[in-house]
Amino acid sequence: MTPVRSCAGCRRRFAQGALLRFVRTSEGWRPDRPGSRRKQPGRGAYLCSAECVEGARKNKRYPGLGAAAAECGLIRSLCKK
Ligand SMILES: [Zn+2]
Repeated sequence: MTPVRSCAGCRRRFAQGALLRFVRTSEGWRPDRPGSRRKQPGRGAYLCSAECVEGARKNKRYPGLGAAAAECGLIRSLCKK
């Protein structure tokens, strides 16, 4: 069984492995360690693509996620597997 998660930007559903995971920390949203099998604990949110960063900005369920993801886009090589 593949876990399925919704993208916080477009709300479409994807296999968890296809999404970039962000974790809510005391400093705000941080990309989960790419390439690490162990997930960081905490509340997670998922994005499927850079295009969904804008959608995440408008998603009130995840305040700050869009901004953090946009920042992450500048260092996209870190975020992409
Ligand atoms: Zn999406």
